[in-house]
Amino acid sequence: MPRVVVKAVFENVKFKCQRCGSCCHHKRPLDFEELIPMERLKEFCERSNLIYLTKKDINSISKRTGKDPVKFVDTLYDYDGCSVKVEDNARKVILDLPVMKSKADTTCVFYENGCTIYSVRPIACRLFPFRVEEETASNGDTLLNISYNPTCPGIGKGEPVDRNKLERQVSELFMQRASDINPQLQRMIASGAISANAKVYRTLPGKREKK
Ligand code: SF4
Ligand code: SF4
Repeated sequence: MPRVVVKAVFENVKFKCQRCGSCCHHKRPLDFEELIPMERLKEFCERSNLIYLTKKDINSISKRTGKDPVKFVDTLYDYDGCSVKVEDNARKVILDLPVMKSKADTTCVFYENGCTIYSVRPIACRLFPFRVEEETASNGDTLLNISYNPTCPGIGKGEPVDRNKLERQVSELFMQRASDINPQLQRMIASGAISANAKVYRTLPGKREKK
């Protein structure tokens, strides 16, 4: 049975957030290099800061701010709470993973001289500057390799990173994402809405195929 293996692939890294706000402005289009459909990649990258949101994130932010999710959630299609879309006569399944909306200047919609939803900020924001590259190993295992963005000014400051804690956070993100998507996929397969030869595409940042 395939496993999910989470591993921090770095040694002896220190980190302390300097609250520079840079990660609330950056766009990370290169993380979406496998985003499908490709014809919508440019539009999506221009509109979004590409911060992935789990359902739990969306519910917490909505509860805390009183905002309807459509005000802050961005997807390739109109946001309807469903992460699975089917196209091309049921042969193309697109995992339409929700991310945070940006303002016109590319800052996150919740950035006003700092994060205005800090206590409920998404798990992707809590993980930054650490990032996950996902691979499928030859034995079918899913490998979640954690590295970091060296341009973050907090890298090299403060205390050594607790790798176990980081690995637990990444596992939590993975589990939340799986529980958001898998039931929707299973329902569509069971109802015949997805054809047997359908290809699955995804919009998740960090996806890499094993060479
Ligand atoms: S995580 Fe890094 S880039 Fe983001 S606010 Fe902290 S120091 Fe700045
Ligand atoms: S939710 Fe907060 S921490 Fe995350 S990008 Fe927006 S302003 Fe920054």
